[in-house]
Amino acid sequence: MSRRGTTAFLLCALAGAVPPGHALAWGDEGHRIVGRIALPLLTSAARNQVDALLAADDDTLTAPDFVFRTVWADRWRDSDRNSTKVRYGATEQWHFVDIELARPDLSDACAGRKPLPDGTLASQGPARDCVVDKVEQFAAELADGSLPRTERILALKFLLHFTGDLHQPLHASDNHDQGGNQVQVLYGHNRVAGRLHAYWDTAVVQRIGHDEAKVADDLATGFAAEREAWQQGRPAAWALESFAAAKAAAYALPTATVPDEHGTPAYRLDEAYERRASATAREQLAKAGFRLAALLNAALH
Ligand SMILES: [Zn+2]
Repeated sequence: MSRRGTTAFLLCALAGAVPPGHALAWGDEGHRIVGRIALPLLTSAARNQVDALLAADDDTLTAPDFVFRTVWADRWRDSDRNSTKVRYGATEQWHFVDIELARPDLSDACAGRKPLPDGTLASQGPARDCVVDKVEQFAAELADGSLPRTERILALKFLLHFTGDLHQPLHASDNHDQGGNQVQVLYGHNRVAGRLHAYWDTAVVQRIGHDEAKVADDLATGFAAEREAWQQGRPAAWALESFAAAKAAAYALPTATVPDEHGTPAYRLDEAYERRASATAREQLAKAGFRLAALLNAALH
């Protein structure tokens, strides 16, 4: 079984079935909302440089614009996951940081937080790394005009995605359950259980709203008073906030399971859980968008 949620999840959930395997983090919609919040907050200097880097990129895995490039890293990872697994194996672990609920230790979750060996490009960095370190590495590369443009384009695309992943609570926590991938839940009118991780990737985002542009506007406006405070700090602290959100909301499950239609034991998420999940996801998406803008503005001034 693979590590994280799936694009097909929502459609399958609507159809009453959940497929095994496959993965992303915040589904595409969540990532695009993060991009839509960040984009209007860029300074003109950052915006010009971002536009120039994106215009110089001929990769076709996603549409070439800023908002759609937020999902590029998932497409890159998945482009050979059913064949050679070269890209998959090299980047799969960069999408999350498994901070253990029972014994939280960021260094453990980040393979000791070792710096990249001298001369190693972040896009070529070791497979065993975490989303916290990758955000730091790619932000530093984006700021370094002496690097090849091809690397800075990759740095931008990874940063657009990983800043979002860092804020999905189940990408910053683990309960020996593959970040909630092994936990089955029932919610709404579903009679067949789905994975808790996928609920947080997609269902909770859908619950906030279906019009991405409007959701992004609402979040940017609704949390405008918190923006400057939230833009402070570094990715390690942001990961610990995501971890706290996972403890307080994602893993705040009922004490007992019930059997789903097929007899699979699942936690039934009640209205209180779903309300808390929506509120948490709204805040995490807003933080991710604000912080993505802050990282880009700092790197490209
Ligand atoms: Zn991802």
